Amino acid sequence: MSIFCIGRNYVAHAHELGNEVPTSPVIFMKPSAALLAPGKNFTIPSFTNDLHYEGELVLRVIKQGKNLKGIDVLDYCDAITVGIDFTARDLQSKLKEKGLPWEKAKAFDDAAIIGNWVPLSASILTKPIHFSLHKNGSIVQDGDSSLMIFPLATILESITEYFTIYPGDLIYTGTPVGVGPTLKGDVFEGYLEANQVFSVKVNP
Ligand code: ZN
Repeated sequence: MSIFCIGRNYVAHAHELGNEVPTSPVIFMKPSAALLAPGKNFTIPSFTNDLHYEGELVLRVIKQGKNLKGIDVLDYCDAITVGIDFTARDLQSKLKEKGLPWEKAKAFDDAAIIGNWVPLSASILTKPIHFSLHKNGSIVQDGDSSLMIFPLATILESITEYFTIYPGDLIYTGTPVGVGPTLKGDVFEGYLEANQVFSVKVNP
């Protein structure tokens, strides 16, 4: 199973980190070991002092695809949820400065949180898909798919220009504005529309 992630897919988030708005999707990956087992607490790794949460819409792939063009998302993805792309921001900044890959900062064990799946349908996809991330009971991120620089179909087309997608692969579609620090004892809840799809506790 591959975990594909899109970076800088919301203008306001690119700006909050001082990044340029990309002209094509920024793609990176996490290994399957980066997925936190459902129901497990998250532990902040010892190599970072500035762990950030990034709440994101996540797609589940249902069909193999390569070099896709002009596609309907429903033909290749069957479900959607909200997840967190945990990022060691201090480490990522150092790696970016040196032009090095981001994996140590984003692809470490348990760095990907996933919520319960909601079936995709044509009616879900025709409207902006709203989601939010709550930290300790307060909303810290609130976004919807209409704010994406690259919409879901374009993300699939761009990924498959380089990589074959397979059933079971996950696609994290980028985070809206509002990323911030994660501290020991924090509790995160992800909402897709009005429905809570996950709750994850950070070990004290
Ligand atoms: Zn992200």
